[in-house]
Amino acid sequence: MTARNCPECNGLVASTIDICPHCGYRFGAEPKSTQRRGVNPYNSLVWSVVGLIFVPLFGLISIIFYLMSDGRWSAGDAAEAEKYGRWSIQFVKIPILVFIAFIVIFLVFILIMGLSNAA
Ligand SMILES: [Zn+2]
Repeated sequence: MTARNCPECNGLVASTIDICPHCGYRFGAEPKSTQRRGVNPYNSLVWSVVGLIFVPLFGLISIIFYLMSDGRWSAGDAAEAEKYGRWSIQFVKIPILVFIAFIVIFLVFILIMGLSNAA
């Protein structure tokens, strides 16, 4: 026998029953738009927050794209949500890589300077 969780009370309900015995929730009654809402898979808030720490300007732009992506996702427009989500990630990925590259170059420079001073 298969069972599923009730979205209202999270109780286990046999798949053969359409009404939750715990709270009376009706399965299959919710409209499609709310079913596909869920979590935006193109969500990149982590990237945006990291971006805010490393490169605030790009992090801010990234968050704007993130919010636009989430807005499109809530409206049921997955294609647009994906587009804005990608932009949101791109806007922090590149500056963070550049920032890390600069730190690495800087550290190598310091190291070389230190070695040449010691010699
Ligand atoms: Zn229930």
